[in-house]
Amino acid sequence: MDLIDSFGRVVRDLRISVTDRCNFRCTYCMPEEGMTWIDRSEVLTYEEIERVARICVERFSVDGIRLTGGEPTVRAHLPILIRKLAALRMPNGSKPDIALTTNGSTLRNVAQELRDAGLDRINVSLDSLQRDRFLALTRRDELDNVLQGINEAQAAGFSPVKVNAVVERGANDDEILDLARYARDNNLEMRFIEFMPLDASNEWERNKVVTQDEIVNTIAAEFPLTPVDQRGAAPAQRWAYNDGKGTVGVIPSVSHPFCADCDRVRLTSDGQFRTCLFATDEFDIRALLRNGGTDDDIAELIRNAVGAKWAGHQIN
Ligand code: SAM
Ligand code: SF4
Repeated sequence: MDLIDSFGRVVRDLRISVTDRCNFRCTYCMPEEGMTWIDRSEVLTYEEIERVARICVERFSVDGIRLTGGEPTVRAHLPILIRKLAALRMPNGSKPDIALTTNGSTLRNVAQELRDAGLDRINVSLDSLQRDRFLALTRRDELDNVLQGINEAQAAGFSPVKVNAVVERGANDDEILDLARYARDNNLEMRFIEFMPLDASNEWERNKVVTQDEIVNTIAAEFPLTPVDQRGAAPAQRWAYNDGKGTVGVIPSVSHPFCADCDRVRLTSDGQFRTCLFATDEFDIRALLRNGGTDDDIAELIRNAVGAKWAGHQIN
């Protein structure tokens, strides 16, 4: 049975935050100091995560699972979870696509292990190619490790490796072309993300959002582009380089919200089920998991949560 919300959107994608912790402090995401982390006893175990994912995949034909965070690779033994998720099967017998979003800082050590565990796809966040600026944006001097991690991910067989850059006016918008060029030269698929009001430090202002149109015009002035006719539920709008050197994407959450096509739901690291990154309602799956809830109970909670999904976020 499909999971369909009251606006007719079919849920296909489950985003799982495996930890709220992170070894970076990106300015647009976390404050420099004073983060308080969820107590470990409240974080779902891999068995609990697997159970929720299994219900989504087996009962509701969810065909994509993305692991995120915090920084997913700071959680110990991540390949164990990936192996469990890669063993799930949808009612039609196919394997869900397993993806990971990471800051890349440890990828040079774990890329092959992640691949061997059954990870299908990887997105690495990289907002600057300049060491000082990378340090200013992430508050960590890790640029070289991230670049090496991207290389190791390619060597481990991830193809294409996607690279995500959040573009913030006055912070790194002068690097759009350099990042695009780096990706073209290294066989990577670049994704520029519009800056969203998600940051804990209240840095967001509308005039710091560099819109999709600005990003695309900047790239096209140097490397002519043609839109790729695709969208569906994929958040990124894509363009192909006219010289055949791959594609580039933009995730225009602010200027062109894709809520009408959103096919995602989220599981937080402490076991709350959400239907939108910006949702204020949470549905407590952990309580069911830890108090004897049956698979039917969990499936019903998921159906109820999806039934209450908003039409769209309220950024604008
Ligand atoms: N730690 C991992 C990473 O950075 O890739 C995974 C979690 S991170 C929250 C997921 C993605 O959200 C990253 O690509 C990050 O750049 C992006 N992100 C974080 N804060 C954002 C913001 N305020 N606006 C837009 N994207 C943001
Ligand atoms: Fe950590 Fe990712 Fe947030 Fe940066 S964007 S602080 S790497 S969770």
